[in-house]
Amino acid sequence: MEVDVLLDNVKRKNPGELEFHQAVTEVVQHVAPFAARNPKYRKMAILERLVEPDRVVMFRVAWLDDNNNVQVNRGYRIQFNNAIGPYKGGLRFDGSVSLSILKFLAFEQIFKNSLTTLPMGGGKGGSDFSPKGKSDMEVMRFCQSFMTELARHIGANVDVPAGDIGVGAREVGYLFGQYKRLRNKFEGVLTGKGAEYGGSKIRPEATGYGAVYFAEEMLKRNNDGIEGKSATISGSGNVAQYAAEKLIQLGAKVLSLSDRQGTLYIPGGLTEEGLARVMQIKNEERAPLSVFCDSFEAEFREGQNPWSINCDMAYPCATQNELDENDARTLVENGCMLVSEGANMPSTPGAVEVFEGSKIMYAPGKAANAGGVAVSGLEMSQNSQRLSWDSEEVDRRLKKIMSDVHESCVEYGRENGHVNYVAGANIAGFVKVANAMLAYGVV
Ligand code: NDP
Repeated sequence: MEVDVLLDNVKRKNPGELEFHQAVTEVVQHVAPFAARNPKYRKMAILERLVEPDRVVMFRVAWLDDNNNVQVNRGYRIQFNNAIGPYKGGLRFDGSVSLSILKFLAFEQIFKNSLTTLPMGGGKGGSDFSPKGKSDMEVMRFCQSFMTELARHIGANVDVPAGDIGVGAREVGYLFGQYKRLRNKFEGVLTGKGAEYGGSKIRPEATGYGAVYFAEEMLKRNNDGIEGKSATISGSGNVAQYAAEKLIQLGAKVLSLSDRQGTLYIPGGLTEEGLARVMQIKNEERAPLSVFCDSFEAEFREGQNPWSINCDMAYPCATQNELDENDARTLVENGCMLVSEGANMPSTPGAVEVFEGSKIMYAPGKAANAGGVAVSGLEMSQNSQRLSWDSEEVDRRLKKIMSDVHESCVEYGRENGHVNYVAGANIAGFVKVANAMLAYGVV
């Protein structure tokens, strides 16, 4: 099938799902020419089958708030493709969650998980419930109600969710507690668990650290390194915090973080003490980032993103489509030489075009942020062996996986002396899944 026909079909069958269309278009434009050169993929309609999820589960989540009022949210689990392993991908709790957003995330996850070299299929889920402004007990009651339905659809060898926006250690604890109670089973059905009940060392750090390790690999290929470079980061959640931590450890100067209200600009660079305060603000006080300025020298830029700040490297670590074509142009004009995406699809198609055109080092999320799900995969291995590796061991494995992901992108993304990491990640991720699908016949 021609690319245009395939994309038209996707748009027709999934009306209004703009983020899903965007994610499929990006993958298909790189993978289709490759698949066309390999008739076996074409003959067996691998791409046509790959854009259709195995199944989508959508359900009501009713719960009682602190005033005993009934609240109703919608829950989802997208089981997109399990050709190479159990479905694996996070849960997002945020007011913006929709079928389109979760389908785009689950689709991306197929390729990302394949790139890690670990046996994991692609899935994603969540709810339009936002934990913001809710008490701990409200979050607990919501999580218990959500898991009461979700538990029917997941399992250690079936589908293993993890965290994402709005789902951190607190939420994973409540979700795991309810699963265990419903099933009377202590099994590795979720990753990102607490260290006391089966969580892996380095899992909280993994996505942010991984995005920096990936950047290090790109720089190394150009005989360069992180030390002494300036970096802008967006977001101030899990991924942003640990990207900042690793960058500081490696001698970079972190100039910004951000949240939904605006950007924190720290001209002197974020210190370790400053980062500890950010973690306290976001993880414990659950307060806006602007309060950082009460105790540290920094400027809060209400309603702005960080991309107008001069930097050598940019790390978008907040959310999808947070960096547009104009932002990308500004970054490149200001001398930014590297972009490593901690978030999923943070750059709009126009921004990606600018990055690709300018030939800066640009790593898409499905490669650069694969460290999170990679360590989730390592958590599954540890759970099934009933053992626990120390931090050094997990970090060593994470580094090796990021280096291997980088190598795969280089292998499939070489273009006239330059590496197109988007093409490389999409094609390398596709090959393993496609070959497994070929082996299964038409299913
Ligand atoms: P968190 O909820 O911990 O943090 C999200 C951060 O992004 C917060 O600072 C939040 O601001 C900010 N943010 C969210 N939505 C918006 C928005 N619409 N505009 C501006 N800022 C926004 O999530 P994570 O750090 O876990 O996830 C961040 C990104 O990384 C997501 O794209 C996620 O899919 C991706 N990712 C996460 C992985 C993980 O292991 N956690 C793995 C791979 C990818 P505020 O503080 O105001 O809420």
